[in-house]
Amino acid sequence: MDRFTRATDIDGKQFATGLLERVKADVEAVKAETGVVPGLAVVLVGEDPASALYVASKHKQTMAAGMKSFEHRLPAETTQAELLVLVNRLNVDPEIHGILVQLPLPAHLDPNAVIQAINPDKDVDGFHVSNAGRLATGNPALVPCTPLGCMMLLKDTLGENLAGMHAVIVGKSNIVGKPMAQMLMNAHCTVTVVHSQTKNTAEFCRAADILVVAAGRAGLVRGDWIKPGAVVIDVGINRIQVDGKSRIVGDVVYGEAGHARAITPVPGGVGPMTIACLLSNTLTAFRRHHILAIAA
Ligand code: NAD
Repeated sequence: MDRFTRATDIDGKQFATGLLERVKADVEAVKAETGVVPGLAVVLVGEDPASALYVASKHKQTMAAGMKSFEHRLPAETTQAELLVLVNRLNVDPEIHGILVQLPLPAHLDPNAVIQAINPDKDVDGFHVSNAGRLATGNPALVPCTPLGCMMLLKDTLGENLAGMHAVIVGKSNIVGKPMAQMLMNAHCTVTVVHSQTKNTAEFCRAADILVVAAGRAGLVRGDWIKPGAVVIDVGINRIQVDGKSRIVGDVVYGEAGHARAITPVPGGVGPMTIACLLSNTLTAFRRHHILAIAA
């Protein structure tokens, strides 16, 4: 038997709690230094219940971190023009340092046009092309929250230096897979991205020192896809039925991953990191704003 007989759980809940405490302490410090309270505006269009829950949780945690929280709940029939007017208003509001438009938007609205309308300096989701381009060219400003959280957990597990490790990412979405690949390349990993059209996904995964899975497919990654000693980050959130009961699982068959060095459980791994990283990004946006203001 090798020494990797039981994978360690990467406790995202505990890490996120610590990160929120650090953000709260930093918020106190910047308030004392500048006399200004960092503010986050969240825009929700329509009544999607999952989105409404996320927005309520974001509001609660923003307040708990000592920041100002501005919630804008708009009816489902809001027009593109009305939404853009609100975004433009938030763009120039000096009390607001971060803007997040909760996705998905109702079908008649164009999410890309809305994201590109957000002032990139307030784009705490990191989805604006300007922030995507900065990340891609190794000069990141505001980066997407979920891959940022994954990166923090990876460094907490493996140490700051990830250079030379082979990272394989399953999924190439703009919000997880692609920015994750950029962050790992910026950390000097050798990066492979596989997706739904890849022919030999399992073979690529078996070569990974770091395996990040963000496909949204329950049970996709089996135990024999994981190299002994690999660190596995399971981003997937899938609701399945087991014995008539609803359960949340990831994309990795957790029970078969015992030979990994460490793995994020679902729930309790990557999920809790996302809101903590959103607040960390709001603080980053606030600091960048004040540094730019001082430099001007
Ligand atoms: P997406 O649907 O936009 O992208 C999925 C990607 O996976 C695509 O690039 C697709 O090509 C790839 N893929 C699909 N099936 C595949 C297969 N069989 N083999 C290989 N690749 C495959 O999804 P997303 O927005 O990137 O989210 C992915 C998952 O992560 C979802 O389960 C989502 O709920 C979850 N997620 C979690 C958090 C969090 O906070 N923990 C945040 C964002 C997304």
